[in-house]
Amino acid sequence: MHAFSRVLNSGHVVMGSEHKAFEVELAEYLGSEWVLGVASGTDALELAIKAAMPRGKHTVLTAANAGGYTTTAALRAGFRVCYADVSAESLCVDEETILASLRDDVGVVVITHLYGNLTDIRGLVATCHNLGIRVVEDCAQAIGARSEFGFAGTFADIGTVSFYPTKNLGAIGDGGAIITSSDALAATVRQLRQYGWETKYYVTAGGGVNSRLDEVQASFLRVRLPNLDSLNERRRIVVARYVEAAANGPIRVLPADGPHHVAHIAACLTADRAEIRKDLASMGVQTDVYFPVPDYCQPGFNAEKVNLEVTEITAQQVFSLPCFPELSDVEIDQVCSALRSLSAQTTSFQKNRNLT
Ligand SMILES: *Cc1c(COP(=O)(O)O)cnc(C)c1O
Repeated sequence: MHAFSRVLNSGHVVMGSEHKAFEVELAEYLGSEWVLGVASGTDALELAIKAAMPRGKHTVLTAANAGGYTTTAALRAGFRVCYADVSAESLCVDEETILASLRDDVGVVVITHLYGNLTDIRGLVATCHNLGIRVVEDCAQAIGARSEFGFAGTFADIGTVSFYPTKNLGAIGDGGAIITSSDALAATVRQLRQYGWETKYYVTAGGGVNSRLDEVQASFLRVRLPNLDSLNERRRIVVARYVEAAANGPIRVLPADGPHHVAHIAACLTADRAEIRKDLASMGVQTDVYFPVPDYCQPGFNAEKVNLEVTEITAQQVFSLPCFPELSDVEIDQVCSALRSLSAQTTSFQKNRNLT
């Protein structure tokens, strides 16, 4: 309420002091030179891809299992999209899967830190740079994830984040930002987010849009940013409980242990997803599927057909359990006992089968 009245009383609701302060505070937290607020995570991707694409190139290479945001952004930016498979371990792209799908026309690789998992991309970024390819990190699910080498979003040329309300750093509406330590890329994005203006009403950059983070969102994000690490820690605790409760059962809960993982989603894999989800629902546990359809199978994207094995198999198996910091201990216990009862059913089923 205090942040809200501060904005109302200031009389300044777009591109004012809250926005400026938030950009500085988030950049300090991440250890990057620049943070630039925009209107959503998808806009952040679009502007990052536009700014990063080397002249003469027109294709973006990315994962097909990350919800289609990068594809939407790349198509809006006027580029083509092709896809790389993901590691069966992390469900994220890695150097091997990217290199297997690389083509001459690729100018930008977008790496999604899916489910909140910062994988080690330093080798991948170096390899791309040697080939004249720029790299964008989609940190919409991974804000605050870090390794000894830095925060998610600071390893590549540009990082992008989303402040959609259910993300780890959520606003009370839409919002997003770009992270970069390149003065040139920051300058381009600063123009692109406001019509391509160099100064007011003078357009010198092509491809500009209107994409701004408003003062109310910025003021709320400033309230929440100091709590981000503890909110992320709470998410990791939730996932750790699920991993333990699901042990030896039909569900593999992907671990989220350590600062490199901010547990945006409690992602699970199981061979019999429909049945398992029904059982969990009957025990009062809501689940969802992030994401059911690979991008290149979405009719609306009209993509070139490929067949990426791990992407396709895991799209049939993946689902998620409730995971957000405000879950109560009682609610977490309820999910855990549902998981344990699934494990017990499987074990007795296996025992019976061994007897016959
Ligand atoms: C949510 C999300 C986005 C898009 O963010 P919006 O703010 O909703 O536009 C992009 N990439 C990933 C991986 C996301 O989860």
